[in-house]
Amino acid sequence: MATRSEPAGGAGTVEAVELRWLDLHLAGPHRAGYGVEAQRPVVVVRLMAGGAEGWGECAALAAPTYRDEHARGAWIVLRDHLVPRLLGTRLPLLGDPAERLHGTIAAVGAALADVRGNPMAKAALEMAAVDAVLRAGGSALADALGVGAARVPAGAVVGCSPDPGRAVGATEAALALGYRRVKVKIAPGADAAPLGAVRRRWPDLLLQADANGTYAGPSVAALAALDPLGLACLEQPLAADDLGGHAALAARLRTPLCLDESIGRPADVDVVGALGAATMVCLKAPCVGGIGAALDAVRRARAAGLGVWCGGMLQTGLGRAVDAALAGLPGMVLPGDLGGPSAAFEEEDPFGPVPFADGEVAVHRGPGVGPLPDPGALRRVASERVACRPASPTA
Ligand code: MG
Repeated sequence: MATRSEPAGGAGTVEAVELRWLDLHLAGPHRAGYGVEAQRPVVVVRLMAGGAEGWGECAALAAPTYRDEHARGAWIVLRDHLVPRLLGTRLPLLGDPAERLHGTIAAVGAALADVRGNPMAKAALEMAAVDAVLRAGGSALADALGVGAARVPAGAVVGCSPDPGRAVGATEAALALGYRRVKVKIAPGADAAPLGAVRRRWPDLLLQADANGTYAGPSVAALAALDPLGLACLEQPLAADDLGGHAALAARLRTPLCLDESIGRPADVDVVGALGAATMVCLKAPCVGGIGAALDAVRRARAAGLGVWCGGMLQTGLGRAVDAALAGLPGMVLPGDLGGPSAAFEEEDPFGPVPFADGEVAVHRGPGVGPLPDPGALRRVASERVACRPASPTA
């Protein structure tokens, strides 16, 4: 049985973890090459350790179409496998913020080490533990990371459509909001025409494309038509496991390649670098296993000479706050997919939108990794709740 909290000794024991299932809805459908997202169930975690409260968010989407995790699967893995392993773990509640951050990452990693895969579910628990530890000491994640920036530049994402007029209209709306960079989702048959129209209208725009792994076989030849457009990068043209194909394509195209879905753990960055499969990677902390894994991936990318920038996952204001802090790390090569006022569920999001102005989002400077949820908003959208505590020692 876990002991009670021991803040006087500088450590607190994970005493309880609650899971909540939030039924959120996107303000508009999110169209990518892999499909359309309209509903957005979100699993959130509330963790108590040494009297401190922390919140975490699981980035898994409704269906396993983008990555192999999905929200209901993550709920079960958290409830039945991850949370029972974390209960009773001692977290460092006192000391230097960076030491507490890295001590917590190590403690959570050790507790969950024998569960394979499931990076998004693990990332949710790590986020909640880090939030509790930093909140207990009144420190912000950005402080623990050594990120001094008050704001970071944000990029907009334009949905996939073969209609050039639609791409131009969506880009115009994004630029009117102040976004510094536009990423257009593409797929075979919906690529050079919409991207070309955007480029003709804005010759100097920082423009990139994301294919979400939809090109294969004969359709790959069409990607050569993107080279004259001066894209900042072409993201994930081929399937996630086709690193050899990406290496061959990178040698043929002038457009820099960026990999996203191919990066499912920090060590994947080493392989991308060794094969020359891309010149940059899109960092998504939840997709590699959390904040600790993201920092590891950044170190590996730098060692391999790869550029890094921060992606996004249709998250609430909590996950976005973590991404914004990571986007403030030195050397990010492009503005991050950090959302803003057009992002998804402003009305419903219990954590609220990340503050956005003039194409930049604010880095969270309050205690913890992000804002606490609004209790009323949380009640309105939470349809399921399960509380997990250490098993009683009595038979
Ligand atoms: Mg992507």
